[in-house]
Amino acid sequence: MKLYNTLTRKKEEFVPIEEGKVRMYVCGPTVYDLIHIGNARPYVVFDTVRKYFEYKGYEVNFVQNFTDVDDKIIKRAIENGVPSTEISEKYIKEALKDAEGLNVKPSTKNPKVTEEMDEIIKMISTLVEKGYAYERNGSVFYRTRAFKDYGKLSGKNIDDLESGARIEINTEKDDPLDFVLWKPKKEGEPSWQSPWGEGRPGWHIECSVMSKKYLGDTMDIHAGGEDLIFPHHENEIAQSEAANGVTFAKYWMHNGFINIDNKKMSKSEGNFFTLRDIVQKYPYQVVRFFILSGHYRGPINFSDDLLQAAQNSLSRIKNGYKKLTQNIKNASGTMTAEENAFDILQYRRNFEKAMDDDFNTADAITALFEIIKFVNINVNENSSLEFLNALKSEIDTFCEILGIIPEDAETEGKISPEEVEKLIGERAQAKKEKNFALADSIRATLLEKGVVIEDTRAGVNWSYK
Ligand code: AMP
Ligand code: ZN
Repeated sequence: MKLYNTLTRKKEEFVPIEEGKVRMYVCGPTVYDLIHIGNARPYVVFDTVRKYFEYKGYEVNFVQNFTDVDDKIIKRAIENGVPSTEISEKYIKEALKDAEGLNVKPSTKNPKVTEEMDEIIKMISTLVEKGYAYERNGSVFYRTRAFKDYGKLSGKNIDDLESGARIEINTEKDDPLDFVLWKPKKEGEPSWQSPWGEGRPGWHIECSVMSKKYLGDTMDIHAGGEDLIFPHHENEIAQSEAANGVTFAKYWMHNGFINIDNKKMSKSEGNFFTLRDIVQKYPYQVVRFFILSGHYRGPINFSDDLLQAAQNSLSRIKNGYKKLTQNIKNASGTMTAEENAFDILQYRRNFEKAMDDDFNTADAITALFEIIKFVNINVNENSSLEFLNALKSEIDTFCEILGIIPEDAETEGKISPEEVEKLIGERAQAKKEKNFALADSIRATLLEKGVVIEDTRAGVNWSYK
């Protein structure tokens, strides 16, 4: 299996640290709002990577953090007049719901900054003791130049960075390249006790700490979106390798952006669609299929046409699968694969070849289409049950790895998250129009369908009973 390593800028054979195991860390979202469709990309991509490793027989320890201490969360909390944990807990729940909708397997562990403070303080102390960090008036900074390999991931040269660095006014840093590990408390912000006074950690340190705690000093794969290469991942390497004295991650994987008009979709630019907006129109499965239709490292230019195309492609798969399962129900024929000298494993070889080559899901999907095409053309009442089941088993395997559900699942009366969101939206509208009778009846309908809703100052929370 080969994967593209951002660190070496080459495709490399994957060799695990420990036989049969993969230790993997993916930087998770900052939880101050609903995730947008760009944030959904690393969820889907690295879940597929994980599923393929599992298919190959590896046990995957998959850790993804939630950044629940951050300026944006604090700002949102102040705007809403609530504690910042109310905001972060709400959006953690929402992100997990979206992940479930996208058919992402739950992580082995989802650590949060607020729960790892002792370890964070411990690592910062180690960096201070080792001379890689220094304290100034309640702040602690990382001494970037002390780390000889700084720039190795992003390919940046430290002197170029220095000359391009903004001259900051009122900073206590010894060098503009130094970055913050600990910030002193500001009024109204959450804070924790530390050897440097009350305060809170900078962003980069959390991932160094959480990955060490849950995966050890060296992991196999560290992943995230390509915007994280610099400075976030570069700084994580500097922190971890200085503190632990060993290689931090063997392989670095980065997904490309989802763009709008060739510009990265992002909250700060305002050019984004939340995943919840999208799933009002296209089911989560379509979004997942859309994301996997392109190679994970390339950019995707977001458009309604592409989602429509993904929906059509997914329907073709589902229709072929339906034909196959109906034939299985009524199978009475005798035609076997052997009789036709038909090599059923050819699709799997193509699928694996694509996935072994840096997780080329676009080509893997082509292999899936090929087998569906075969079903559409060749399966009929003469096909034997054994042959049909063999075809089904191949399709099931491919779909499971890609996280695609080929049949419309029996919902057993359970309302889908998309429908819940739609009804909640309609209820909000009704309330806005002061149509409280309608709002109440929507609430009752949701309850009937097994969904409990709770109004909080930060918005509506919902869950299945
Ligand atoms: P954030 O909450 O902004 O830290 O992002 C969470 C994850 O989504 C990170 O791995 C980001 O790199 C990734 N991400 C953010 N925006 C995009 C985008 N437009 N396209 C692809 N990935 C993104
Ligand atoms: Zn991170």
